[in-house]
Amino acid sequence: MPTAPTTRTSPTCSPRSAPDRNLPVKAVIFDFYNTLAESPHWGPSWQEMIAEVGFDLPAEVQDRWWNDGIDGMEHDEHSQSRDHYVAWQQSRMQGMLDECGMPRSTQDALIARAREIGGHRHIVAYDEAPAVLAELRSRGIVLAICSNWDWDLEEAIAAAGLTGSVDVVVSSAWVGARKPHRRIYDAVVDRIGIAPDDALFVGDTWTCDVEGPRAAGFVPLYLRRAHFGVDKTAPDDHHRQAVHRADDLTPVLTLTR
Ligand SMILES: [Mg+2]
Repeated sequence: MPTAPTTRTSPTCSPRSAPDRNLPVKAVIFDFYNTLAESPHWGPSWQEMIAEVGFDLPAEVQDRWWNDGIDGMEHDEHSQSRDHYVAWQQSRMQGMLDECGMPRSTQDALIARAREIGGHRHIVAYDEAPAVLAELRSRGIVLAICSNWDWDLEEAIAAAGLTGSVDVVVSSAWVGARKPHRRIYDAVVDRIGIAPDDALFVGDTWTCDVEGPRAAGFVPLYLRRAHFGVDKTAPDDHHRQAVHRADDLTPVLTLTR
C-alpha cells in the first residue's frame, strides 16, 4: 500500500514562484502520487484500523515499517516477481502489527482489509494532468512516470485514466530500489535513452523528487499544490534553494517551451 497523503496545510509550503525560463529538455519525468493523481478518499489510516481493533500504532513504528522509513532502500530480493513483492509487503505489515502487540489471528483480518481497501482505491488524475501530458507529447518530449509504488503501478495509472499518456513507467517495486536511491533514476535514464541533464523531474516530495533527481543530474521541479500538507522531507532552508517550483502542472509547459 503506498504512503497515505497528509492533509494538514502549511503556509510555508506555498511555491516561491512559478518557473519562467525556458529549458530545452527532451524528457519530463513525473512522480505519480500527488503529482499526476491523488485519491480523494484514501480510506482509513493504519492508525484508525488498528485502533478499531483495540491496539495503538505509534507514528515512529509506522514510519519505520512502512512509509518514509523504507524510502531509499534497495530490495532486490523482494523484486524478483509480484509474488515476492506481495510477500514482502505482507511481512512488513506483520512486523509492524507485531510491534503493536497484535496477535496474528487479529492481524490476518486486518491485513486482508487493508488489501481490500488498497485494491479498490479511487485514484483521480489532477484536472490539468491529461492536457499537460498531451501538450508535452505533441512537442515530441519523451514522458515517464517514476514512482515509489508497489507492483501494480500500471493498474494505478489506469485507475487515474492515464494509461498510454507516457512513454515509460518505472515502479520502485520492479527496480528493486526506492527513490531517492540512485538506481531508480538510473533505471529511468536507461529506459528513456536521454541524458538526465536533458530531462526535467517533477514531483511533490523533496528527498525523492528534488534531492535525489538533482544528485542524479536531472533538473528538478518541486510541485506543492495548495492543499498539500507539510513535506517533512524538505529541509528548513528549502525556500532559499534555487529550485523550480510550481503549484500545479501547467507551469511545466512554460518552463519547457
Ligand atoms: Mg508523490
